[in-house]
Amino acid sequence: MTTALKGIGASPGIAIARVFSLSSERYIPVRTTVTDTQQEVARFREAVAVARKEIEAIRISAEEKLGAEKAEIFEGHLMLLEDPDLIDAIIEKIGIESVCAEFALYEVSQSFIELLQSMEDELLRGRAVDIEDVSGRVMSRLRGVPHMDLANLTEECVIIARDLTPSDTAQLNLHVVRGFITEVGSRTSHSAIMARSLEIPAIVGAGALVRDIPEHAMVVVDANEGIVLVNPAADELAAYQEKKRKDDVRRSELAKLKDQPSLSADGKRVELAANIGKLEDIQRAIDNGAEGIGLFRTEFLYMGRSSLPTEEEQFTSYKYALEKMNPKPVVIRTLDIGGDKELPYMELPKETNPFLGQRALRLCLDRQDLFRTQLRALLRASTYGNLKIMFPMIAVLEELVEAKKLLEEEQQKLLAEGVAVSEAIEVGMMVEIPAAAVSADLFAPEVDFFSIGTNDLIQYTMAADRMNETVAYLYQPWHPSLLRLIRMVITAAEKEGKWVGMCGEMAGEQAAIPLLLGLGLHEFSMSAGSILSARELIGQLNQAEWAAHAEQALTMRSTQEITQFVEFIRNGVTK
Ligand code: PEP
Ligand code: MG
Repeated sequence: MTTALKGIGASPGIAIARVFSLSSERYIPVRTTVTDTQQEVARFREAVAVARKEIEAIRISAEEKLGAEKAEIFEGHLMLLEDPDLIDAIIEKIGIESVCAEFALYEVSQSFIELLQSMEDELLRGRAVDIEDVSGRVMSRLRGVPHMDLANLTEECVIIARDLTPSDTAQLNLHVVRGFITEVGSRTSHSAIMARSLEIPAIVGAGALVRDIPEHAMVVVDANEGIVLVNPAADELAAYQEKKRKDDVRRSELAKLKDQPSLSADGKRVELAANIGKLEDIQRAIDNGAEGIGLFRTEFLYMGRSSLPTEEEQFTSYKYALEKMNPKPVVIRTLDIGGDKELPYMELPKETNPFLGQRALRLCLDRQDLFRTQLRALLRASTYGNLKIMFPMIAVLEELVEAKKLLEEEQQKLLAEGVAVSEAIEVGMMVEIPAAAVSADLFAPEVDFFSIGTNDLIQYTMAADRMNETVAYLYQPWHPSLLRLIRMVITAAEKEGKWVGMCGEMAGEQAAIPLLLGLGLHEFSMSAGSILSARELIGQLNQAEWAAHAEQALTMRSTQEITQFVEFIRNGVTK
């Protein structure tokens, strides 16, 4: 019988395939006595050798697919397999206690994991995950069962998991992974954002029922509607195959808009840009007709590795992005670490409220060494294209002034060293904290542009964690408070002749675009996969009319009133 689950459509499209479940539970072996301990040790060594070969192969393919930085994580895994503290302790345990290799491996690795997890040091705590991963692989070899490996999947599948970390998502084999479904998460959790940039259908926050989906069951993921069908009946399957075919046809129709300008029906020009996290995303942005990069989340350059990227490494990445997009603009956001984006190798204190803690620019102003390195890399790369630098998470003017001062200092140092720096770099800030939005008039004279980060602006305005599905009902992009904040930012910028973009997920929402156009937003930056349908929609909208509708929406009292109003007008306009 067909079962249906509902979740949040995080990345559009339809996927039909059998499920592969990424279990987060560890296998617990039974203590078994062995008589020939030497043979057991040999069996263990053999499993380690096979695991090493597997990891080496993954490292090579990750390097080809994702670049050297992302592949470094596997270097660390290989080193663990040679770590005498771990490996000798297991061998000793087999010999002394005459226990099977599985049990010795489990007990020793578990004691390391528990010890590391209890550490204050974030870097050491991060190592626990690596030991879990590597010991799980050796365990699979000992048990003769296939090891779950996202990079190595060979069969077409839809992945189901409690959650996928950004690095899990980065490892997905896109040739076979048709989509994913997670128990937890929201549209703005980073796994959802990555799914959109990889353009694979994804449903997140589908709840605990996800656990009941049997392994290898056939599923339909309709991420356009947020519906999962498990073991669909033949007629349902046929209907979805037809729907998927139509979806594919529509995508090829949209592709015709790739090189068209983004113009409203009454001729107002806006810019549709892409949000990227990795250099690989740039090609996808170009293929989807992006008129620029509106948000380069540089923190992804810092992830999936064991140490901070050097100035040279960063320079190479920024130069690549700028050259590839030139003369189109590239807005590069300085490091935004914290919240749900962790860097295990940085020794950051654990915070009770990480989203309200020392995130992003707050951390950069404190750790000036790493901030200055990034600024230098950006400034050096600036002569290779159309660079705009953007600071995240600004609450007060002093933060902006300080960040600009450090940028200026690094620029002067470079010029004194005889290094060329572009004279045309625009410097802007994200507006993602309500304090910055309501005082946008104070910031406007100090910046070249604003980019509204609604993912955070909504969570901070509504005091509703963007990752927590139990308060998702409060996460309301359409709430009057949000529209008012957006209006304030645009008005303040216009007074100073500055432009305003939006790089939060709201900018790519079909339902939000008409009002944002009406409010006078200049640049919409979104996941590459949303650009063409946004261009199509904007072409059907009359900006002047939507400016009047926006005025009316601003007088309304609730999300419901506003959404119904927009829905009513849109159906009148588009049908
Ligand atoms: C935002 O907050 O809207 C944003 C674009 O930044 P991030 O999602 O990376 O926090
Ligand atoms: Mg943000």
